[in-house]
Amino acid sequence: MVCALATSCAWACAANTATAAPHTNARIIPWVPEIVERRDFIRLFPQAGFLASAARPRDLPPPGPPELAFVGRSNVGKSSAINALAGRKRLAFTSKTPGRTQTINFYSLGETARLADLPGYGYAKVPHALRRQWQELISSYLKSRSSLVGVVVIMDARHPLTPLDAQLLDWLGDGRRLVLLSKADKLSRAEQAATLKKVRAAVGAGAMLFSSVTRQGVEECRDLLESWLEQVVEIKSPR
Ligand code: GDP
Repeated sequence: MVCALATSCAWACAANTATAAPHTNARIIPWVPEIVERRDFIRLFPQAGFLASAARPRDLPPPGPPELAFVGRSNVGKSSAINALAGRKRLAFTSKTPGRTQTINFYSLGETARLADLPGYGYAKVPHALRRQWQELISSYLKSRSSLVGVVVIMDARHPLTPLDAQLLDWLGDGRRLVLLSKADKLSRAEQAATLKKVRAAVGAGAMLFSSVTRQGVEECRDLLESWLEQVVEIKSPR
């Protein structure tokens, strides 16, 4: 069967080529969107440290503690968002050159949790073969990662819901996911409100404005993600 989303949706289709099946959702647990209040538990993000990089599916480190994946178009501000959440300057490498990161980079949050920074997608100047290799890596990871508890999809607040973003969200299904609207500082308050309304209407309540420059949304996002991780840890190891 030919994928209806054609070549641009190769990450969804790439992992399915063996069976030629239609889209299969990523392996993340179902979630009812909910923004939590700030709570009093051990902060995980300040403990972030580099763990490993993987360029091919076979290089992925074995699944360990609950993991959050960060994914988005190339140059969308993903590395800057990870740094802002961790309160660090150079944990994840930011770049003015789109399409540079070619690996999945893993960060440990102490022994409790992990982050996975997926390669940015959609950069047209990357050779087709390389783009396909990244897409396979992303789709293989999202489909098979047993420790994945949530996905943070980062979109540029000025250009949200590009076709590739929409296809990714569609493919991720109802699992635990949060849309971060990055570079919100580039929009006026009125534009921010209109964008948030539009995106929430399209994807559900799990969307928030974010800026690693002004730190808008950083605390709120960190609280939400830490509460996801905490819930999973509590389910696995009740006190
Ligand atoms: P990545 O490729 O998605 O990891 O994107 P980076 O984090 O490397 O950021 C790409 C470019 O966008 C860099 O020049 C950053 O300085 C810039 N950038 C990232 N986040 C923000 C933000 O919140 N506001 C503004 N104005 N620029 C940002």
